[in-house]
Amino acid sequence: MVEMRLQAGRVRGLDRGSTLAIAVSKGRILSEFRTLLDRMEIKCAEDPETSRSLVIPLKDRGLRLVIVRAADVPTYVEYGAADLGVAGKDVLLEYRGEGFYEPLDLDIARCKLVVAGKAEPLPRAGRLRVATKYVQTTRRHFAQKGDQVEVIHLYGSMELAPLVGLADCIVDLMDTGNTLKANGLVVLETIAEISARLIINKAAMKMKNTAVKALIAELAKALDQTATDRNLAL
Ligand code: AMP
Repeated sequence: MVEMRLQAGRVRGLDRGSTLAIAVSKGRILSEFRTLLDRMEIKCAEDPETSRSLVIPLKDRGLRLVIVRAADVPTYVEYGAADLGVAGKDVLLEYRGEGFYEPLDLDIARCKLVVAGKAEPLPRAGRLRVATKYVQTTRRHFAQKGDQVEVIHLYGSMELAPLVGLADCIVDLMDTGNTLKANGLVVLETIAEISARLIINKAAMKMKNTAVKALIAELAKALDQTATDRNLAL
């Protein structure tokens, strides 16, 4: 079924000049997204990791990547500056708009959003101070538990905050856990499993439906192939 839609999409959508812009951020998400594109035999016209250009056409497909900051991907997609985007679930949880669809978990850039702190009991008296760049998600998480906390907004090096007494704990992404360990911190709680998602502008879903659906089907097929290969390798 997916195969049939894919074939139809290839003929009626992507290959007949519909142009789609995909917002994506450099780094882990772009590099793992390119592995998916490779599976779909889609190549970049120039190397986005070395090019200074912020618009990278994809060869022969009427697609282009627009390179933006990770936290800006939902904004580009909501306002239609990009038809689609690849954004971490952490960014989507934090984003306050709702002008896009989220049809596909791309299963890339996997990590966890965690509460971490020193390997000692948290103070019981007073409001807990939590340092994070995920202010909304952190407020929501502790509010759901009925805990009143003071959220301290930082832009980076979160792990430092408990060490210098700025906060009692942090909310941050964890992949291998090496950064936490190197700073003597431990996971206290997992808030969410994170991976990058495909998001789609609502108007583009209507106006460029054939091309968008064809691309979703191709991505879904590439994801299936990746999962099959992974299972075979086990
Ligand atoms: P690790 O030491 O492997 O646990 O990685 C932790 C550091 O990498 C933290 O500074 C995180 O903010 C960052 N990080 C981990 N996973 C991701 C991801 N998927 N996307 C962006 N940053 C990440």
